[in-house]
Amino acid sequence: MTKQLIPIILAAVLLITPTATYAQEKISLVDSTAEIFFPSALVFKIKAESPNDITRIRLHYQVDRMNYANVISEAWPDFTPSPKVETKWTWDMRKVSLPAGATIRYWWTVEDKTGDKLVTSAKTIRFDDLRHSWQKLTVGQLNLFWYKGNQSFADELMAACQQALKRLSQDTGVHPETPINIYIYASSQDLRSAMIFPREWTGGVAFTQFNIIAIGVSTDQLDWGKRALAHELGHTVTHQITFSPYGAMLPTWLDEGLAMHAEGETDPYLKSMLKKAITQQKLISVRSLSSPFSAKPEQAYISYAQSQSLVEFLIQSYGKDKMLQLLNLLKEGNTCDEALTEVYGFDQDGLDKLWREYITGQTQSRSGFEYILAQETSQTRIVWEAVPAELIITRAFNALAHYPVILNPSAYVILKEPFTFCHSDPERSEGEESHIAQDELRDRRILVMASSAKNLTQSKAIPGDPSLSLRVTTEYNAAGEYGN
Ligand SMILES: [Zn+2]
Repeated sequence: MTKQLIPIILAAVLLITPTATYAQEKISLVDSTAEIFFPSALVFKIKAESPNDITRIRLHYQVDRMNYANVISEAWPDFTPSPKVETKWTWDMRKVSLPAGATIRYWWTVEDKTGDKLVTSAKTIRFDDLRHSWQKLTVGQLNLFWYKGNQSFADELMAACQQALKRLSQDTGVHPETPINIYIYASSQDLRSAMIFPREWTGGVAFTQFNIIAIGVSTDQLDWGKRALAHELGHTVTHQITFSPYGAMLPTWLDEGLAMHAEGETDPYLKSMLKKAITQQKLISVRSLSSPFSAKPEQAYISYAQSQSLVEFLIQSYGKDKMLQLLNLLKEGNTCDEALTEVYGFDQDGLDKLWREYITGQTQSRSGFEYILAQETSQTRIVWEAVPAELIITRAFNALAHYPVILNPSAYVILKEPFTFCHSDPERSEGEESHIAQDELRDRRILVMASSAKNLTQSKAIPGDPSLSLRVTTEYNAAGEYGN
């Protein structure tokens, strides 16, 4: 200790000593706690004393979430004025709910009748779901909490998250700006029990303003969990980087499309739904997709599939820098049409038109025949038992049966051997069977069209002779892709 410091310390002691004796006449805090009753309530308790009646007590609290301004809320607990007061204030989550893991900073102001005032120092509490013993895994900006399943379960989920982040950063330039807490519940039932007003179908939720994700993943649902988690992470990161005081909203197709992009490969079922929508001319306009999606399952599936395809079209055709620029312009408060026009030179209607051209072109270039040819033996023959051939037959049949819409009717198969089959068409009236005689099909060029997933499932019932084979002509130039 240097000599110069001694006078300063003495002065400090002199200042403190009178305050300490004087304290008896001041308000003092006896205790301040907060108790969690997850998920329904958070109870703040205070005990304070004063030589005089305490007449006013206020709780101040601040929730750690993305906010435009520094928001501090206040609450007034009930109590009877007295020199010794013990009271509490209950945050009823049915009115305003908090997700598991939300952090709250709080402090009190206590006043007595002489006008003396005590402001307590701030404390922090995390609204944890204490019903489970959580384990934690941290990598970079991600904290993953889980309570069921071994370390490798958590490691796999974390790896999927990191992959999703990598994909987003490579393709769109976005990455998390602040830590994200991920809570893995052991089932969707457990997850719903953690929510005040759960919806029947809730499997995962991104509380984007809190940078919190809660999701129900059982250990035998790991593949689903990885995809769902990547999706919610996509939402969370995108919302982080576009959050602004201008109240700009991401159009739903962009928001969902980016989340789907974070998932990686398109879900096979959605892919088939998109193909079906193209074939049956049920695509939804980009403008309609900027509003919340329909709750009807079929419409919803098409909406998601289309959104992913739209985002992929923008990324593949125009690159990541433009996508990041688009998100920045939306953050600055531009409308979707304004932002699109500035970055790409077209608005949502223009995007709609270009995307439809792109998706048709993509279907043409990725021919189903390429796949079949890859499966062929050197004799360019496909055995009937092989699934691709079976699918071709279904499509050929559909075309022959004057299916209402035929997409890209420019691909052909030639049936080398005659055969007969009958097939119950699910799109027609129930039980109605169509028969095609072998003569009709013999050496005849058949239009091939994209088939829906439903048809493909049904087509497995087609009776076939395993000895039959198909030859695919080399004259094709396009075909509908295979369903999955
Ligand atoms: Zn989503």
